[in-house]
Amino acid sequence: MIDDLWYKNSVIYSLDVDTFMDANGDGIGDFEGLVRQLDYLHSIGIDAIWLAPFQPTPNRDNGYDISDHYGVDPRHGSSGDFVEFMHQANKRGIKVIIDLVVNHTSDQHPWFREARKGKDARFHDWYVWSKKRPENWNEGMVFPGVQEATWTYDKAAKEYYFHRFFEHQPDLNTHNPEVRTEIRRIMGYWLQLGVAGFRVDAVPFIIETPGENQEKEMRFDFLYEFRRFLQWRQGDAVLLGEANVLPAETIPFFGEHDNGIHMMFNFYVNQYLFYALATGDVSPLTEALQATREIPLTAQWAHFLRNHDELDLGRLTDAQRQKVFECFAPEARMQLYDRGIRRRLATMLDGKRPRIELAYSLMFALPGTPVMRYGDEIGMGDNLDLPERDAVRTPMQWSDAPQAGFSDRPDTVHPVIDRGEFSYKTVNVAAQRRDGDSLLNWTARMIRLRKECPEIGYGAWAILETGNRHVLAMRYDWLGNSLVILHNFDNEPHEVEIEPGVPNSDKLFNLIQEDTSHVGGDGRHRLKLKPYGYLWYRVGGLTHLLHRQRE
Ligand code: MG
Repeated sequence: MIDDLWYKNSVIYSLDVDTFMDANGDGIGDFEGLVRQLDYLHSIGIDAIWLAPFQPTPNRDNGYDISDHYGVDPRHGSSGDFVEFMHQANKRGIKVIIDLVVNHTSDQHPWFREARKGKDARFHDWYVWSKKRPENWNEGMVFPGVQEATWTYDKAAKEYYFHRFFEHQPDLNTHNPEVRTEIRRIMGYWLQLGVAGFRVDAVPFIIETPGENQEKEMRFDFLYEFRRFLQWRQGDAVLLGEANVLPAETIPFFGEHDNGIHMMFNFYVNQYLFYALATGDVSPLTEALQATREIPLTAQWAHFLRNHDELDLGRLTDAQRQKVFECFAPEARMQLYDRGIRRRLATMLDGKRPRIELAYSLMFALPGTPVMRYGDEIGMGDNLDLPERDAVRTPMQWSDAPQAGFSDRPDTVHPVIDRGEFSYKTVNVAAQRRDGDSLLNWTARMIRLRKECPEIGYGAWAILETGNRHVLAMRYDWLGNSLVILHNFDNEPHEVEIEPGVPNSDKLFNLIQEDTSHVGGDGRHRLKLKPYGYLWYRVGGLTHLLHRQRE
């Protein structure tokens, strides 16, 4: 039964229709273009696509300001194009998860336009209002330095409205049962069109008590209500939550009885992962993994390196954050919102292949489900001339043709990267497809390897003692199979001794290099790691998994 939980052994690929492929030559990515590239996604082996918002929008926050939850923005195509995309994705066995953006709407949404007409208006109570300016009018901003307040006066309504995000994104009042009914209707609509689940945007803000209260109570029952509805409608659909909360606060989001969101991004581990990459010291990462260890049986962490936002380092201490800034974002323009970095993975790692491989190998080896970011598989860079988070939202680099093969039109939605080391002229899919040793082909091999290691997604795990602060060694156990995976975060080689401590661990079978399987007669192994090296072993040589296939 338990291996029906498809999300536990999947590789998820996140992309924005906007910047992936433009088929109709208007400079903006569209569903027709995305359909053309489905065979590419299928060939690298991903299981599911997470689509950023594509609904009608004034597009003042990368589509996270929706003005109609039941449609497709005409720039990306029609609802018919979406259904055709769903058909083509499912035909290739690719599941589709879409963003569920219901903390707020665009101020151009018909609900808000109606709500502004006054307190007796039809949708007035769908938003959060205050007659006088709340004392905390400039607290709790999501975009410090850019955003000016969380309460803004509306002249038409003659009241202040609440907005966690930009002032053009009024918060929906989820305490109004009508709003929650509408959210379920939105979920039901897209489920009916075939999506496999939702990446739920800004989860804590959806369920917090609105208004002036300083002590914000979380209404987890709202989440459980959405989960019940989801599962009634479609048994294997999932919720993947964006909730950057402390480890001690996570369990109610998952729900103690398999009744909350199935998956959450592990923002906590992500930040210590970058600290380890910056300093070579794995101890804080080990502690972060331990701190997020205990989750309910069917729950799952989603692990990622970079996403469409800034790399948020808000959970690190000031000293730790400064170290990561020094290493990966030494210039002020590389930093954002006093807490993060607006660069891609490859540029932070200076395009150095061993470090990129280390980072990705680690992401695939973290206990949970890996979520990749489009373009990272070829080592795409960023454009710091673009404002804020747009730096990491440049068009996919398909070839060395004009506009990177993304579009026929020169003025694309965001400019393509056409200068320097990360220019599309050198970094592109077409060139890497032809090169057996390219990052693209390496990534495809790692995805295949990850999917052959269900121990990581389904199993239990332990940190193995190495006595070396630069080397992280982990063991994973599931159905009598075990893996041992090691990562060296240092730019020097290291030799460590480990003891897997499970039956048959006198022999380790190397899953990446053919000729370096290891025999340790007493169950202990001395292993050599190159600078930024990684080793993947299955314990005991031949595996039960392989035996099962033979029978
Ligand atoms: Mg287009």
